[in-house]
Amino acid sequence: MSTANENRAARERAKAIAEQHRAERRLRKRRCVLCSVEESERTPLGPHPEGLGPSCKDLDGCERRQAASTSG
Ligand SMILES: [Zn+2]
Repeated sequence: MSTANENRAARERAKAIAEQHRAERRLRKRRCVLCSVEESERTPLGPHPEGLGPSCKDLDGCERRQAASTSG
């Protein structure tokens, strides 16, 4: 009986680790809350002035992307 419990515990642990990795990957790839561009060297994100979440440091580029996404 103990082996079955151990197997289940091991599976639970593996699932928890996989979930953690997924969460970490999601955290690493942040997106701008305004234009939803992915964070990269060309589009660095900073904190939104109103605390909404990460947003582009390049405001001009951000506005251009917002305009492009709404008109397209
Ligand atoms: Zn943006």
